[in-house]
Amino acid sequence: MRILKGILMLTLAVCLLIAVSCIIGNENKKAPSREHIADGTTESEPSPGIASPTPAMVSSGQETSPAPDISPSGQEPSEPTPALSSPEQKPSAPAQEANIEPVDYSEIRPNESGDIPIVMFHNFVEDLDSTNDEEFTTSFEAFEELLETLYNEGYRLISMRDFIDHNISVPAGTKPMVFTFDDGSPGQFNLIEENGKLVVNPKSAAGIMIKFSEKHPDFGLKGIFYLNMDKEEKTFEGAGTLKERLEILMSYGFEVGNHSWGHFYFSQAKNREQIYERLGRNQKRLQEIIGGVSFYSLALPHGGKAPEELKDAMIRGEYEGTRYFHETIMAVGSTPSVPSIHKDYNPEYVARIRSQGKVEIKFDLTYWLPNMTRDRMYISDGDPNTVVVPKGKENLIDTGKLNGKKLITY
Ligand SMILES: [Zn+2]
Repeated sequence: MRILKGILMLTLAVCLLIAVSCIIGNENKKAPSREHIADGTTESEPSPGIASPTPAMVSSGQETSPAPDISPSGQEPSEPTPALSSPEQKPSAPAQEANIEPVDYSEIRPNESGDIPIVMFHNFVEDLDSTNDEEFTTSFEAFEELLETLYNEGYRLISMRDFIDHNISVPAGTKPMVFTFDDGSPGQFNLIEENGKLVVNPKSAAGIMIKFSEKHPDFGLKGIFYLNMDKEEKTFEGAGTLKERLEILMSYGFEVGNHSWGHFYFSQAKNREQIYERLGRNQKRLQEIIGGVSFYSLALPHGGKAPEELKDAMIRGEYEGTRYFHETIMAVGSTPSVPSIHKDYNPEYVARIRSQGKVEIKFDLTYWLPNMTRDRMYISDGDPNTVVVPKGKENLIDTGKLNGKKLITY
């Protein structure tokens, strides 16, 4: 009896030990929450996914120099480090096969050769009467209404990264759209302090988008903010340091892009060195603030293109040891863009549509909305691994850019 009791006690003790070790193990495995970034503490860990080198960047060998705090082991900058990816933003990863229901093409009528609108925003204010700017300023209220309209009209946001890679993962029958924001103005995004924590101001475009995506998660919380790093703390002016602002912005999956040092008018560029400085210095300053983050898209200030003989410097270059490589160069006007797999796609000058300001002007978004007809626009088949076009449109696709995706006609 005593022996039996002994065995029983021993078994119990072993079970308890296993249970305790399981609990500890699970605790350690828990994914880090976003809290630590959203609450405004300032860990220097890299921001999500933004700089993850893509296959295109790797093969071109033009990736930016590694930032000291990302590559302490001296590894190749082109090697993706686990620390750079995040659960929130892995847009370049091959699309998962799971959960994609086959669709009836005759019913959905996908057209993945059609146009994608890339919208350009500048300033946001509470009261439009407070500004004399007629064309580039939007009110928070108008922006909120715009989101509702776009959502109801079947637009879904994709990131610039996914636009470039043609990694388009929006539901079947919906239309991808890209949001871009120039100049880093506080109405686009700023932080406020709430109970000792830094949070996104709900009275900002990003704040409005975050709230909207809680109501309509399928709309997508995406957008790229083109920055002039010489503005330093004037960028997204408000609470927090610039580093905290950028970290929190990117923690939501938003992207950052190059808008040049000093908002330079590139059509007045005299030589290559001048361009290297304006673009490379902007990149260098970003990396000093957040190591490992690279701009991969440039928005031309004032839409000014460099003279033809200097245009290669707009794409890639180096300044004081920091390299840059822009996979897209964004224009200012004035039409929807073809997708990146289209034969007419020119990454060196990608069209954007400006959002409406105080008044409607020709070729702004208000003008375009009724003109972006079903026949013209990109309609998704819901599957990022296939490119589906109506018969006769297959010749619009550059098959060299399919990158393993299957071209289907119907
Ligand atoms: Zn600008």
